[in-house]
Amino acid sequence: MPTRDSLVSKSERLGASSTKAKTMDEKKKEYFHIIRERYCKGCNICVAFCPKQVLVLKNGKVFPERPQLCIGCRACELRCPDFAIEVHLKGEKPAEGRDSDSVDYTLPPEAMHG
Ligand code: SF4
Ligand code: SF4
Repeated sequence: MPTRDSLVSKSERLGASSTKAKTMDEKKKEYFHIIRERYCKGCNICVAFCPKQVLVLKNGKVFPERPQLCIGCRACELRCPDFAIEVHLKGEKPAEGRDSDSVDYTLPPEAMHG
C-alpha cells in the first residue's frame, strides 16, 4: 500500500517529467518555407504528400497555412516537379550549392513563410 509521502513524491516526479517534456516541446524544431510562386503551377502534389496538412492552395499557388505543424520531412520539396517549394530549419542558412546538380538554390524566392 503506497503511503501519502510516496504518492506525493510520485506526483512531484510526474510533475517534474511533464515539465521536462514541456521544455523539450519548447525546443521543437521549427521550419519555414520558401515558395517560388512563378514556378508553382498549383498541381496539388505537395499538398497531397504533406503528412501534416501544412500546405494548401490559395489562388492556384501553394501556401503554408499551418507552418507550425511542419516536421521538416521535405516530402513537399522532393515531390514538387517544378522546384517551387523549399523547406528549411529556422535559424539554418540554406547551404550554398546544396543539390546543385538538380536545383539552383540561388534562385531568388518570391515569398518566405513560417
Ligand atoms: S509547389 Fe510544386 S508540387 Fe506544390 S502545387 Fe506548386 S508546383 Fe505543385
Ligand atoms: S516538410 Fe513535410 S511536413 Fe513540412 S510542409 Fe513539407 S511535406 Fe509537409
